[in-house]
Amino acid sequence: MEGIKDLKNLALEAIEKRSSLLKNEKYILWKIKKNWKQIVSGPIGEKTYPKSLFNGNLVVVINDGVIYHTTIMYAEKIKEKVNTFLNGKFLESIEFSKINYKIKRDLLDELIENEENRGTIRVGEIPRGNVRERNRNIDSENKITEKVRDIVLLPEEVEEIHENIDKIDKKYEDIARRLEKIAIKLKKREKYLKNNGYIECKNCKILFLQENSEKMCFECRMNEKNRKFQKMADLIRNKPYISEKQAVRMTNTDKSTYYKARDILAQQTYNDMLYYCLEKNREISLNEDYEFEIRSESREDVEKFIKNYVDYKIGSDNEEVFKIERKWALRRLRKDMKFRLENNRRY
Ligand SMILES: [Zn+2]
Repeated sequence: MEGIKDLKNLALEAIEKRSSLLKNEKYILWKIKKNWKQIVSGPIGEKTYPKSLFNGNLVVVINDGVIYHTTIMYAEKIKEKVNTFLNGKFLESIEFSKINYKIKRDLLDELIENEENRGTIRVGEIPRGNVRERNRNIDSENKITEKVRDIVLLPEEVEEIHENIDKIDKKYEDIARRLEKIAIKLKKREKYLKNNGYIECKNCKILFLQENSEKMCFECRMNEKNRKFQKMADLIRNKPYISEKQAVRMTNTDKSTYYKARDILAQQTYNDMLYYCLEKNREISLNEDYEFEIRSESREDVEKFIKNYVDYKIGSDNEEVFKIERKWALRRLRKDMKFRLENNRRY
């Protein structure tokens, strides 16, 4: 079990023994990607990822606006770190680009909806992806606005608002009056929504429409799910033979998280293995003199990949199980490689 984490490093070292590949930017990029968090430690490593490498220019995507400027300030340093890691001057420059949020339209719609429900933006103020949906929402929103007007606040609710407004300095009387109006409107709105199936998210306090008996808003539930998944994946990576029961208990998650983590880890390993085999084929075609050495070395590495793959997928060191899974993996690998070669696809 020990050393399973080092498998990938072993395989990587094996590739590196032939220097021709070191000049291949696809390979270099792959290597940078695999070790990115290690090379660029801390929040920058967590919130950025290398996307492409061409003529010595590395494009790095930043998916967090908050660290954008900091990251750019550290560009030179990051470049140096990468070059040190690669043991040579492979990067000439680094270019940063922010993530394109268009692809996350649905998620963004969700965020906008949350803000609309909270009342911090007007419905339709920020257009959503689906126009027809937006119109429908405006219609229902108009109905809500009408009904909110009919809501009557209790004396103690009004009292609470006044207490807060009175704290504002008399110099700002104008602003205080305006804030009072807004506060009353928001309170009415909150009351109306709560009467109509909305509840407060126990995590972020946003009002959301409760569909089943969930206690958190959509966004918080997704974050929670991601967190659980990550925890489980880390555990399985370290202890691949851990049982479902034990893993669920240790991570305080559930059965489906356990199997999903296994599936995804196995799939990632399979993809790494496929990539490795394709690269090795390429290497052989470029170094015919070393064909024999490359082949025997690669065979060992592929066996390690398969072992790793089966460990993640099944989580058992039973020999019979391994034999069956190994056969299946090889068959699939052959099919996938054949497909890529026949379609002349660059991977
Ligand atoms: Zn929430």
